[in-house]
Amino acid sequence: MKRRLFVTAALPYANAAFHIGHMMEYIQADIWVRFQRMRGNEVHFVCADDAHGAAIMIAAEKAGKSPQDFVAEIAAGRPQYFAGFHIGFDHWHSTDSIENTELSQDIYRKLRAADLIYTKPIEQFFDPVKNMFLPDRYVRGECPKCGAKEQYGDVCEVCGSVYAPTDLKNPYSVLSGAVPELRTSEHYFFRLSDPRCIEFLRHWTHDGKLQSEVENKAKEWLGTDDAATTLGDWDISRDAPYFGIPIPDAPGKYFYVWLDAPVGYLASFKAYCKIAGIDFEGFLQDPATEQIHFIGKDIIYFHTLFWPAMLKFAGAPYKVPDRIYVHGFITVTGEKMSKSRGTGISPLRYLQLGMNAEWLRYYIAAKLNSHVEDIDFNPDDFLARVNSDLIGKYVNIASRAAVFINKRFNGRVADGAEVTEHLLVRQLRTAGDEIAAMYDAREFGKAIRRTMELADSANAFIDAEKPWELAKRTDASDRLHTVCSVALEAFRLLTLYLKPVLPSTAATVEKFLGLPQPLAWNSIDQHLRHDHPIGIYSHLLTRVDPKLLDALFEPPAAATQDAPLPGGSAIADAISIDDFARIDLRIAKIINAEMVEGSDKLLRLTLDAGEGRYRNVFSGIKSAYDPRELVGKHTVLVANLAPRKMKFGISEGMVLAASHADEKQSPGLYLLDPHPGALPGMRVK
Ligand SMILES: [Zn+2]
Repeated sequence: MKRRLFVTAALPYANAAFHIGHMMEYIQADIWVRFQRMRGNEVHFVCADDAHGAAIMIAAEKAGKSPQDFVAEIAAGRPQYFAGFHIGFDHWHSTDSIENTELSQDIYRKLRAADLIYTKPIEQFFDPVKNMFLPDRYVRGECPKCGAKEQYGDVCEVCGSVYAPTDLKNPYSVLSGAVPELRTSEHYFFRLSDPRCIEFLRHWTHDGKLQSEVENKAKEWLGTDDAATTLGDWDISRDAPYFGIPIPDAPGKYFYVWLDAPVGYLASFKAYCKIAGIDFEGFLQDPATEQIHFIGKDIIYFHTLFWPAMLKFAGAPYKVPDRIYVHGFITVTGEKMSKSRGTGISPLRYLQLGMNAEWLRYYIAAKLNSHVEDIDFNPDDFLARVNSDLIGKYVNIASRAAVFINKRFNGRVADGAEVTEHLLVRQLRTAGDEIAAMYDAREFGKAIRRTMELADSANAFIDAEKPWELAKRTDASDRLHTVCSVALEAFRLLTLYLKPVLPSTAATVEKFLGLPQPLAWNSIDQHLRHDHPIGIYSHLLTRVDPKLLDALFEPPAAATQDAPLPGGSAIADAISIDDFARIDLRIAKIINAEMVEGSDKLLRLTLDAGEGRYRNVFSGIKSAYDPRELVGKHTVLVANLAPRKMKFGISEGMVLAASHADEKQSPGLYLLDPHPGALPGMRVK
């Protein structure tokens, strides 16, 4: 029976680039999806940026961009990761889309019709300067428990207390510094505590859909009898100004995260259906369809309670998820990834260093199992595992066998029963079902270990048969042919078993072995054929060079907050493009430069900024330049700086030069010098 699968990975928040934790989840889901496709199942694999919320609205404002432009720039940076790490999403979408607006509003209307939506007034901090309600993270003050200063509105980082922002002492708005006012606003709620929801969820979470540890967690939250329920209703609204989806019939109100973000799974799928010619509603309504979400352990609550209840009571065409596959976090040499600190390894740097994405895919796969366990990236372990397994065991088989097939047999393998029914080949073929079951159950580590055991058997076979000695004997040509053909057939099967993890290497191998079609699970029963000559063997994978790992962990100076910039001063606060546009920078030609009598710092410059007149500018660059070497050069002038009366005359502008913040520590002044071709009067922007 062919399965129909709709698979998603969790939506990343569109305010930053991907970190290694994202890549782990995408790699996990991608391996599973590739495996299902190799089994002949129908799989649709989609994801999207979670684009809405106050945090993005505020970050965009700081960057001088519209929130739409801000998230579009983030989205433009995504494909390089997918291409780089072979993540085969069918579609990448955004929650800031027509589809998501339609679907979120539709689900909301259906929930409202089912009497699961209500409103109640909520007291919340309001920033009187910015004229907006403040998210918890945008209020700071002193911890109500321990008095620690500069704490966020939700949790104290010193004593760990959890509280409401209104509990903070001496609160202030992070956005404006103003003292926030308490204001009341009508909020919309989803009635998760409704007996219908509880009854449904108790059944749904105990249906074998969840990993046992996740099911236990849900049991705790749900309680076992009607009285023990601790589920709270969900606040699903935020007030304008907000970057999000308007709540129908509620002017100035927007959906808050959970009635917007997970709907993005469906929005992405719907947009993809349009492109692929699939009937969206028909697909969801098909009883054979399985809806599967890969997520991290931090969002279990929402995906096992809120999301299924929303979908259940919205009714057709929506379906409740069939599986939620939860994974743990990835640590890097034992340290927890932190989104805010951005520690860990940068996936982009990994690619920029020219490191092979399949090393990482293999390493992560080898560590993953079906449980909610954290895994650790350890560079020594990474190096040892990739080099010993992929190079020492797997690729080694091909390199040892192919050379003789190429040289002695014109690239043609033997394909009689002595090869296809050889004990080693039969052993490898038989393992197919077992390995498939491991992949299907997301026991990737087990699948890899089993495959490497088979690679060990193949290497032991080659060691015992010693083809390099057979090749020296005149009477052993047939034997050599058989041995090398068996080894290559074993290599074909090993490649098939590794293909979900190593898609790119598998594609190279398919070409090299002259396979008539790509390896799929049903190609286990086929074999290499005499009439399809193999290609010339060339290196399939290279070893991990320890120097690369050193470079991966050495933070690039400019990208790390703690590392000092060469200029010795921190980057100034963000300004908007409009702020910048107010500065009129022009190319100016230095017509004359001379010493200023009585000044040991200044040079007097005569500049042509294309205005039909010359400007007189005093510049403090005497220590760095001989005036004669400046005449005739071009530089950059701040043309709209108000004229300033100085001791030696009026200065009509300022020329730009680079220097260290502390000139004593690092002396030197460097005038900006435009590339040849720039003409006086051209605007710099
Ligand atoms: Zn505290």
